[in-house]
Amino acid sequence: MGWERLLEVARDPVANIRARVEREGRPLAIAMSSYVPLEVLDAFGCSAVRWGPVCEDFPRADGVMQAYACSFIRSALEMLLSRNLPARLVATASGCDVITAVPGMLSVARPDLATAHLRLPIRVDGAPARQQAVRALVAFCEEVRERLGAPLDLNRLDQAARIRQEVRSRIAACFAGLASGTFSAVPAYGAALAAQSMAPEEWLAAFPGASALPSGDGVPVLLSGETVPSLEVIEELQSLGLRIVADDTNTAAREASRRVHLEASDLVEAIAVSLADRPWHSPERLVPDRPAAVAARAREAGARAAILLHQKFCDPCAFEAPGLAAALREVGIPSLVLELDRQRGLTGGQRTRVQTLLESLP
Ligand code: SF4
Repeated sequence: MGWERLLEVARDPVANIRARVEREGRPLAIAMSSYVPLEVLDAFGCSAVRWGPVCEDFPRADGVMQAYACSFIRSALEMLLSRNLPARLVATASGCDVITAVPGMLSVARPDLATAHLRLPIRVDGAPARQQAVRALVAFCEEVRERLGAPLDLNRLDQAARIRQEVRSRIAACFAGLASGTFSAVPAYGAALAAQSMAPEEWLAAFPGASALPSGDGVPVLLSGETVPSLEVIEELQSLGLRIVADDTNTAAREASRRVHLEASDLVEAIAVSLADRPWHSPERLVPDRPAAVAARAREAGARAAILLHQKFCDPCAFEAPGLAAALREVGIPSLVLELDRQRGLTGGQRTRVQTLLESLP
């Protein structure tokens, strides 16, 4: 139990998912975007997980998709094509091109696998975005119902929304503790990574509650990016002398920032609105002041540098990087892009670049 269990799951999420499916005996639903609300998949009676890990070799995925797609999606496809996990449903959300193409690819490569796509608005501010999010989530629920042949259980949705929100709140608190020094990065990211694949009840039972393992020394940095591919990356960054004090990744603080109005009369609508109103969006949504907001968070947390952790071929990150780097520079924070490909950790060259950045700081 406790940290040991959370870190064990964070290091080997696939083994945990396999054991969980066997234990729970429910259909496995895999979400491939932080914008797919797992509580909805819980309420369809699924064991719901978010895909996160990156593997180093994906021969089957290479056979069905173009070469310029990120390793995150290739890894997920490899796992599905190799039937390494007993998936029943794959849920995607509109965002980047590659994720939007996944249902089409699976319809050819794994026609036995059900898919459902959440067509969220790209521009997320204002009332029209919320209305579109509600329409999209209702259509998504209908698609899941048809594909699984199971109804949405509203009682289960209420319980799932509450418990998942509790998990997100505790993860957000871990990351808030990075800046104040009451938490260090490895347990914080371990908790976030474990939450992607554990049942929320099990996660809450394992989560130690009180803040522990305070942060050590190191140069304070912001970590931004889509997917944290493994806990090893965090450990490597720490071993190079960095101390992560602010997070802007989908794996952690972005997803954990979503809040559902749990007392709303229509919970499906409230969940949809929470997706449009998520405070910390990803670069695949149109949020005009995102770079300035990220830079402000970095400055408030006391970051002296920023690491932009990109998946190779990730267009949203690549398009955002110059604006984000400029916004960070304006508040006196230099940044470094580390582009990860088929690897769970950093290459020797990337480690050297991090060291060079640290040496160049005033
Ligand atoms: S890492 Fe980038 S390219 Fe890959 S699925 Fe996420 S947003 Fe799309």
